[in-house]
Amino acid sequence: MLERKGKGNSLKIDLHIHSKNSDGADTVAELLANIKSAGLDVFALTDHDRTDGWDQAAKLAKELSLSFIPGIEITTEGRISGHTPFGVHLLAYLPNPDDQALKAMLAENVRSRYVRTNKFVEKLQVAYPKLSFDLVLELAQEDSTLGRPDLATALVHLGEFKSVEDVFEAVDSPISKDSPYYVRNEAPDVLDAIRIVRDAGGVPVIAHPLARTSTEDDQPISFPREHFQKMVEAGLIGIETDHREVPPEVKLILESFAAEFGLITTGSSDYHGLGVKPKNPLGLRTTSIEMLRKILQLGTGTKPTLSHSF
Ligand code: AMP
Ligand code: ZN
Ligand code: FE
Ligand code: FE
Repeated sequence: MLERKGKGNSLKIDLHIHSKNSDGADTVAELLANIKSAGLDVFALTDHDRTDGWDQAAKLAKELSLSFIPGIEITTEGRISGHTPFGVHLLAYLPNPDDQALKAMLAENVRSRYVRTNKFVEKLQVAYPKLSFDLVLELAQEDSTLGRPDLATALVHLGEFKSVEDVFEAVDSPISKDSPYYVRNEAPDVLDAIRIVRDAGGVPVIAHPLARTSTEDDQPISFPREHFQKMVEAGLIGIETDHREVPPEVKLILESFAAEFGLITTGSSDYHGLGVKPKNPLGLRTTSIEMLRKILQLGTGTKPTLSHSF
């Protein structure tokens, strides 16, 4: 049965959420329980570089009368002249998970994050001799996509820091991009990734564009308009303008760019579990129903699980 909310009772929509299948803290079952108690109506599961959680999320969403939008957060990089390559996270909604080019890109990203994490551990061992790659693997869910939060979790486990957030936010954090131990992710060009997502029937949306926390990869200082135009030419459909880590002045620039090019704008929490990112609770930022409708129209690669009518 499709639920329709009464007038003035808008749906709460959060389209960027992680589980333990990547670097979040909650298993999919724990996550769904938390989503229900946070009062969300519609959610997307967007684990880094994988779709494994989709089936269980769809099944549990149905049981809990939630609407579920299958998603992925793909690791890519921006390459613009005069700047070192910088990390770009690309959200993809409703792509066909069996598309060969998409599958190959995701598998390569997971593999390269595994190799990167191993290299990172080798460097960190200079300062933390007790840290081992085996420990990192043991604490992460088997076969999950590895990220820096997994390194942080291992350092907390060893008693070196009090919390994952402390590891990221410590002065001279050992895992920040300025750390001598830092190893960057190797990833495909965002322009190629956008084309692959579109070919797989998905809706590509740039995640937390130009987020400028001390922990993020080497982001451009000013708004790289040409780069955004190239992404639009490649088939970009939306920008996640409303995210805790996107500075307010950048948000304004992005909103005006989105209006100029007719792009979708979204808002999301980027929840990873409160033990990992306490400042990003579920539903912290939300997406409007109008924008969700456009995503549902344009995303043709797989079916959402809808418990509401839109
Ligand atoms: P990576 O892509 O492996 O370099 O790591 C980026 C991941 O670290 C993203 O999923 C972020 O959400 C996460 N992250 C960034 N800053 C923090 C923080 N202060 N606390 C916890 N996780 C963070
Ligand atoms: Zn993450
Ligand atoms: Fe991200
Ligand atoms: Fe994320």
